[in-house]
Amino acid sequence: MEAQDILIIEQARASKIENEVFLRKIRTLPAAIFYEELKQVHHHVFENTDCLSCANCCKSSPPLITKSDIKRISAHIQMSPKNFERKYVITDFNGEMSFSFVPCRFLNEDNSCSIYEVRPEACRRFPHTDEKAYPERTKLNLQNSQVCPAAAKILIQLKQKFHNYDL
Ligand code: SF4
Ligand code: SF4
Repeated sequence: MEAQDILIIEQARASKIENEVFLRKIRTLPAAIFYEELKQVHHHVFENTDCLSCANCCKSSPPLITKSDIKRISAHIQMSPKNFERKYVITDFNGEMSFSFVPCRFLNEDNSCSIYEVRPEACRRFPHTDEKAYPERTKLNLQNSQVCPAAAKILIQLKQKFHNYDL
């Protein structure tokens, strides 16, 4: 991760309480107006983000995995779903499955993903900052802003955009 991105993550951690208050308040905004702004901010930030120079998500937080992910990825690497699950997947007390390792074993040295075409749905969607349900996910948004510099930048820009809004 670049020095500037490390700083942004540190700032997001230091501003956790302020960010949580903001993220709770955005739930009161008209959903359609907020979503239009969110999409614009997301696209602007990701146009200027090079994930291959970061990969912090792949290095620090295991993605949630579904049965459908297991079926697709295991077929791709020519392993039975059962063996794949035994070797790579952990299930928590809520029954949620995730990879059992960080950094991700499918991460290449150049930060590319060795199973990119069949990667888990959660990896494809991360950091979920272009999704309509963003305002409903305070906890997840806070967590992601402390892992992903792009998610942290999106949060900063949203705060700037809605600074004068009656929140
Ligand atoms: S999604 Fe976020 S954490 Fe993952 S590589 Fe891109 S900028 Fe980094
Ligand atoms: S499967 Fe690929 S995208 Fe997902 S965490 Fe592993 S290396 Fe990253």
